[in-house]
Amino acid sequence: MITPARLVAIITQLEHGYGRPEWRPRFSPLEELVFTILSQNTTDANADRALTGLRKRFPSWEKVAAAPPGKIAAAIRTGGLADTKARYIRETLAGILREKGDLSLNFLKQMGDGDAMAYLTSFTGVGVKTAACVLLFAFGRPVMPVDTHVFRVTKRLAFLGPRATRLSAHRILAAITPPPDVYSFHINLVKHGRQVCRAGRPLCGRCVIEPLCPSSIAKEPPLRPEP
Ligand code: SF4
Repeated sequence: MITPARLVAIITQLEHGYGRPEWRPRFSPLEELVFTILSQNTTDANADRALTGLRKRFPSWEKVAAAPPGKIAAAIRTGGLADTKARYIRETLAGILREKGDLSLNFLKQMGDGDAMAYLTSFTGVGVKTAACVLLFAFGRPVMPVDTHVFRVTKRLAFLGPRATRLSAHRILAAITPPPDVYSFHINLVKHGRQVCRAGRPLCGRCVIEPLCPSSIAKEPPLRPEP
């Protein structure tokens, strides 16, 4: 069961294990949006390479917005799904330019979290996770992106029911996480999911939140050897 005390204990233990990361923006908001589209279904390293390719090939975001999708795809080939992502990036940039008159997302500062999420997700290829990444990483807003690691770990912690979807997970985690802890909780859940609470057999014996986890297999008896 999720109680505020249990949630705070988990956040605190994760911070003991992984530290309390301080928020600082890594990209401009527009670059964060493009990077997050590029990172869909691939690693951050591949997305980084694709973003570098895009910057090298095009001197400005306006040029990307006006480019044929094939040229954008050629510049981001290293990131995978290049043709689809090229279309998403071009349509999103062109849409922002058409609606706002320039290529900046700074106007989102004046909007509430819900309106900003609705604006960003109005573009094809910008889902709830991508929009949440832009708001959390570029603006420091307390919006929790639910990626594969966050989803898996919070499910094992029984924050989410067995039928929860990524979309419902966004709503549930947003409702229960204290806003000042969202950034730290997100970063540490991702680290924990990559290093310990892995998709295969989790390393519960090395887990800093094991006493708080109903899915722990740390105390399971070892398998008996077959006769
Ligand atoms: S005890 Fe195991 S299942 Fe639970 S969070 Fe830790 S690693 Fe994941």
